[in-house]
Amino acid sequence: MSADTALYLDAAATEPVGRTVIDAMLPFMTDAYANPASVHQDGKTAARALDAARHSFAANLGAAADDVIFTSGGTESDNLAVKGIALAQMRRLPHGVRPRIIVSAAEHPAVAESARWMQRFFGADVVVAPVDDHARIRLDALEKALAAGDGADSRPVLVSVMLANNEVGTIQPVEDVVRIAHSHHVPVHVDAVQAAGQIPIRMRDWDVDALSVSGHKFGTPKGLGALLVRGRVPLEPLLSGGGQERGLRSGTQNVAGAVGLAIALDESIRFMRAHHAALIASRDRLIRGVLEAIPQARLTGDPVSRLPGHASFIFPGVTGEALLVDLDARGIECSSGSACAVGRHEVPPTLLAMGLEPAAARSALRFTFRRPLTDADIARIIAALCASCNSLGLH
Ligand code: PLP
Repeated sequence: MSADTALYLDAAATEPVGRTVIDAMLPFMTDAYANPASVHQDGKTAARALDAARHSFAANLGAAADDVIFTSGGTESDNLAVKGIALAQMRRLPHGVRPRIIVSAAEHPAVAESARWMQRFFGADVVVAPVDDHARIRLDALEKALAAGDGADSRPVLVSVMLANNEVGTIQPVEDVVRIAHSHHVPVHVDAVQAAGQIPIRMRDWDVDALSVSGHKFGTPKGLGALLVRGRVPLEPLLSGGGQERGLRSGTQNVAGAVGLAIALDESIRFMRAHHAALIASRDRLIRGVLEAIPQARLTGDPVSRLPGHASFIFPGVTGEALLVDLDARGIECSSGSACAVGRHEVPPTLLAMGLEPAAARSALRFTFRRPLTDADIARIIAALCASCNSLGLH
């Protein structure tokens, strides 16, 4: 946080690391630092900690311990899922038939660009399923993309749809997506980076095939994450090496990181259970307050099926970037789009996919938080927003 008094409302970009997470991780960097693959006693101690972390982490996502592949974060997990599953599936296709990868139009670049990479280097047929004006995937379009098969020169091998959107907070109907894709025998990868720790995730109950998670969105140091993959799903590893993580992600495991992931997820879920209703209530008070105070403001994303700590708007007539800078000077730290687009001043892609004009999409702002906002917080945000809109000529 840049100033003592700043209000941090950019939790979708990253979260602080909790003291208990650091305390749980530290011994595995100082005392129990052995390589978990080593056969000596210290190695076994590290392996046991890794195993315990794997079990706890999986259970909190409704998955089995064997599903977990620890990675360096959401980007790597998404790359491994999209490229790894498509590459493995390609080998099962008849000669001359291209793999078809279906992604929603609201996907994070880690998914969308991985699909494009498969197109560039392996001739994959990438089908982008449109979303509606709330950023929900159009299930009729998904069905169509899966069905177009007979006589086509490509066959569907993977559907990738996020659980919750980073820009507008919309929660996707993942169970419907799985039902439709599985009726065509196509596996489903779910990018749950924004959802993990915020809403319940039941990977196996939902019959999801692969699921990406990133630790720094729920309180671990950056550079930690996991891809959970069911054993039935073919997956080509992208890293060659010592064969760690079921041979699917080589590289000496980060034991301290795995311990941190398990603890941070567990703490986030406990917090979510205790404060879910309060978080939603404060989000809705903020949304109502902003819409009342600034007549030009419009809520983006699904008004109901959205992340509990996510309020996103457009302010036609100003740019989100200008608002962001002005708000920052007033001690309100938020974001104008997806975290990775910040600094590159791109038009938020989800907003375009929702059918907004580029100028309107450029006026986007999102406030994201993991703890319920107080009435004083909300009043402060709205006062700053009104002042910023005024100073930028939006009356
Ligand atoms: N997927 C989504 C939906 C995200 O919001 C992000 C990051 O913002 C990522 C993937 C990438 O995760 P990481 O920052 O861990 O690489």
